[in-house]
Amino acid sequence: MSDRLADWTKGEQAITYQACSSCGHVQYFHRDFCAACGIKGPRVARASGKGKVYATSLVCRAATPGTRAHVPYNILLVDCAEGFRMMAHGDNDLVIGDEVIVGFKPFAGKLVPFFVKIQEGDPSFGGGRETEPGTGILGLAC
Ligand SMILES: [Zn+2]
Repeated sequence: MSDRLADWTKGEQAITYQACSSCGHVQYFHRDFCAACGIKGPRVARASGKGKVYATSLVCRAATPGTRAHVPYNILLVDCAEGFRMMAHGDNDLVIGDEVIVGFKPFAGKLVPFFVKIQEGDPSFGGGRETEPGTGILGLAC
């Protein structure tokens, strides 16, 4: 496999994704092939970090002793502007349909993507992909 752009899993404050040069499919989980058409070697690119909240789940009960200090914390599914969906952390008051942008925060000893709401009037407002609001509730953990 060729060089891979560093992302948050490698300590870089960035989100990367893959795009297929044959069919145009985009995917968040990196593979040696396109999950849609099977062509080898999809292109790796750095995401803008903008998106729209597809689902939220507020976690109130720590899964591990290392996450106990963070409860309650919000786990999101975000439809990123480039067309892929990813799971990430975010502000606890985010709701489905919010336009968001990523930053990075420490969580249980690792720097993780953390989305915050883009305020109206912010030049980056409006960067998310359209989704159907209200269809993506993961479930209430509290
Ligand atoms: Zn493809």
